[in-house]
Amino acid sequence: MTNSFDVIVIGGGHAGIEACIATAKMGCNTALISMSVDTIGRLSCNPSIGGSAKGHLVKEIDAIGGVMPLIADRSGLQFKMLNTSKGPAIWSPRSQNDKYLYPYYAQQILKETKNLTLIEGTVSQILCENNNIKGIVLQGETIYCKALILCGGTFLNGKLYTGQEVTEGGRVQEKSAKGLSDSLSTFGLEIGRLKTGTPPRIYSSSVDFSKTNIECGDDPPIPFSHKSQQVKNSIVCYSTHTNENTHEILQQGFIDSPMFTGLITGRGPRYCPSIEDKIYRFQDRTSHQIVLEPEALQSNTIYVNGFSTSLPKDIQERALKTIPGLENAIIEKYGYAVEYDFFYPYQLHYTLESRKINGLYMAGQINGTSGYEEAASQGLIAGINAASKIKGLPELILSRADAYIGVMIDDLVNKSSDEPYRIFTSLAEYRLLLRQDNAFERLYDKTSVYGLHTGSQVYVLQRLRSKNKMLSEIRNIKIDKETANTIYASVGESITKESEQLISMCKRPAITLSLIRENSSALNQWKGTTFDSILKQAEIEIKYEGYIARHLVEISKFKELENKLIPDNYDFSRVHSLSKESKEKLMKIKPISIGQASRIPGVSPTDISLLVIALKR
Ligand SMILES: Cc1cc2nc3c(=O)[nH]c(=O)nc-3n(C[C@H](O)[C@H](O)[C@H](O)COP(=O)(O)OP(=O)(O)OC[C@H]3O[C@@H](n4cnc5c(N)ncnc54)[C@H](O)[C@@H]3O)c2cc1C
Repeated sequence: MTNSFDVIVIGGGHAGIEACIATAKMGCNTALISMSVDTIGRLSCNPSIGGSAKGHLVKEIDAIGGVMPLIADRSGLQFKMLNTSKGPAIWSPRSQNDKYLYPYYAQQILKETKNLTLIEGTVSQILCENNNIKGIVLQGETIYCKALILCGGTFLNGKLYTGQEVTEGGRVQEKSAKGLSDSLSTFGLEIGRLKTGTPPRIYSSSVDFSKTNIECGDDPPIPFSHKSQQVKNSIVCYSTHTNENTHEILQQGFIDSPMFTGLITGRGPRYCPSIEDKIYRFQDRTSHQIVLEPEALQSNTIYVNGFSTSLPKDIQERALKTIPGLENAIIEKYGYAVEYDFFYPYQLHYTLESRKINGLYMAGQINGTSGYEEAASQGLIAGINAASKIKGLPELILSRADAYIGVMIDDLVNKSSDEPYRIFTSLAEYRLLLRQDNAFERLYDKTSVYGLHTGSQVYVLQRLRSKNKMLSEIRNIKIDKETANTIYASVGESITKESEQLISMCKRPAITLSLIRENSSALNQWKGTTFDSILKQAEIEIKYEGYIARHLVEISKFKELENKLIPDNYDFSRVHSLSKESKEKLMKIKPISIGQASRIPGVSPTDISLLVIALKR
């Protein structure tokens, strides 16, 4: 084995996969080192990709040239667009996936990637010299690199909890990683503890589905990736509910809960709480929804979504049996919580490179996030930036106005929270522009220089040309009065006395371009399913053009502040009259622009004005 690589990636989770494929495709000789090659790409928790706002991240990964969307399509069992009853800004694709096929296709893609070597083993030490990354120690041997991307997930000093049972591990039946945190803390990196949890898995043969509701996928199902021709729904899911009886039994386990007894010190995700957390925090609720999700085509197991728990095994078993359909449920694996080390992300640049150690990049759960999609998108950004530094390409920094990925990294760097971070649509100020349907238009030009888009250029150009042509032609189309009124009558809209511009018709809430296409000859040249998504996108742009224009004005103000740069190593302590809290925060985070400084919690608008004046001087 060679003892030197351009890039070493530690960890074959969702962050590590994207990172190493990006660096290898960008021409860097790359090694992916993971504790077990067989577990690369494992879905630690829910066998599902995407979901609210997470689906946006997956579409952005597709637009930048990552692999998660393709793997999700190949291993997908059910596809659904979420939130379609609300505005298009928050529509988000989600898939239910096969827990065996996902890692299988991930590993297949890795094995086919040139410039990439897979190495099995546990890295115990990171080596630096004069604040520059030098290499790692793997089972006593030193391997050198120019850049290192750390994607250790939930494994660093990981501990697993079920009731009072505590074992060391990064995931069920997998060891924890020792040494790395200590190694990095010697370089002065600040480390914290977080926790997350997973529900029990049960055998589907033990479930009475007649007592549950069926949850179907979309018809037709839409793939995540522009490279997938089509995907199919091969399963259905089922929903049921907890009840007062369930809650009473779960409460009996509280005295042995590692969360309530203080055994776990790390904070868990507020937005994705364990069932005991939900009962404790929302005591007035007598019922919570549970979704039963088949884990794979070739397995008889069900993921009990909504029932994440670290309560004792007997409590888990008794409580499950009170839920309609689960009276005879047999548990295949008990739920558990995992507590692990993470590194406060204020210690990173926007490129995800460490501010303390040149050439060290960090991505995924170790930056305090939770979720496969958050991890994968950080891995892609870290990989592109690590390779760019080596190859002399520009760095890739996405802002809050460019992408959900930009929103997430900006939040991580500036807010560095003490609880796991998960992306939400509500976190994006410009969400009407950051839609899942226009990820390519937003990101293609910004990222094409990195060469990860093989074969996509034609697709993007055709799509753009088609949509722009459609939008400009639609502006000149008039629909005669009779046709317009037939269309209006079919959806209960009030009728018109004259012929109407197609654009004005489209602005009415119940009118869609596809409805107009079906009922008139106006959009004849865009008939056929290949134009469906472009038609939908054009329709969103017409319906929301006022809001979009407002966002564009706000974005130009946002950019003005982002372009007011603060010099490197600026001494914030010398700015008179800044509050003590502001000074501390500014010195800790070292913002690169006034815009960034204004988003740091605790830095007030008055402090920003003082800073602007000081910078002018
Ligand atoms: C029990 C559990 C419950 C979860 N629940 C949820 C949830 O409810 N919602 C949600 O969104 N997410 C959940 N997650 C989180 C989700 O699994 C992660 O967000 C995602 O997998 C993170 O991806 P990653 O690439 O950062 O790390 P991981 O997928 O954890 O991968 C880390 C990789 O690094 C390798 N590794 C670690 N240290 C070393 C080392 N020293 N040397 C070599 N290799 C190393 C490991 O072998 C592994 O392959 C849960 C995870 C677990 C374990």
